[in-house]
Amino acid sequence: MIVFIIGQGGTGKTTLVNYFNEHPINNWLFFDFDEGAIKKSDTKDMEELAVWVGRQREYWLKEIRNPKYRDQNICLFGVGLFPWKVGNPNDVKFAYLSVDQNLRKDRLIDRGDPHLWEAYQKDIDEIVKKLDEAGAKKIDNSDRPIEETASEIKDWLEELEKNNIKYEIKESAAKGKGAFAVCDIKAGEEITEFTGEIIDRKAIHERILKCEERIDDPLQIDDDKFMDIDNDAYFFNHSCNPNAGISGIADLIAIKDIKKGEEITFDYSATVGTNIDNWKMDCLCGAPNCRKVIANVSTIPNEQIEKYRKANGLQDFILRQI
Ligand SMILES: [Zn+2]
Repeated sequence: MIVFIIGQGGTGKTTLVNYFNEHPINNWLFFDFDEGAIKKSDTKDMEELAVWVGRQREYWLKEIRNPKYRDQNICLFGVGLFPWKVGNPNDVKFAYLSVDQNLRKDRLIDRGDPHLWEAYQKDIDEIVKKLDEAGAKKIDNSDRPIEETASEIKDWLEELEKNNIKYEIKESAAKGKGAFAVCDIKAGEEITEFTGEIIDRKAIHERILKCEERIDDPLQIDDDKFMDIDNDAYFFNHSCNPNAGISGIADLIAIKDIKKGEEITFDYSATVGTNIDNWKMDCLCGAPNCRKVIANVSTIPNEQIEKYRKANGLQDFILRQI
């Protein structure tokens, strides 16, 4: 989940970002993406996520996909940003900071930026209209202490996080525990992100030999990098006909629409690189196309790999290897 909080000049966004930098909230980062603050990336795919209006085009969403932020949800503040071609709206939430327009004008003039008032007013009206239509939360920052506004944002983020849990772990009919959808999930939507310590193959072997790790549990994330998963994500069962897949480094994505109550599964073979040729397990998934044995990615029929690829259900390192 990524959260956009949009604040025009004179709404107190910089003060808020500074406040959150001094009073951090777990798993949340706050950025003030003002003109020129973030250097532009040359990656084109982010154009799908954000469209700029007005003069400010220096900020780029690629930055928030930087691996160093991978365990964070991110709030973005910035005038002129309207993320509108969002692939999976359920993963993106909006709010905007609002103040009395006269107050805003006075603040901008006080700050010595009167031109901002003229330059952005038309764009801002348009953005606010679109945000209202998109159901964005309006945060009124007109005339109150910064702590109050920050506290409103914090409560909202906590609520969003609570409502963002898309699965529960419970007993699965045949396979021990499994993960089940607690809401309808659309194809392409992120279900969760696997997290854990990242270690190399040798270290994983040592942990397995010491019985600190089960051989089937680590998630491969690169040729010689594995994740020792630390959340309940390892309860997701395998299926040869799955409804989810792992994308990027370790994002679990729905590759089909998933109904509330359905078990969420992914194809373990799709996460095992071609360089791992000594691992396999029997499959009892019961799917009509069951391969009976789960081994590395090269054992998946081509047609099925293509389906995973089209649905964005393959990890970056797998895409490189196949
Ligand atoms: Zn199977």
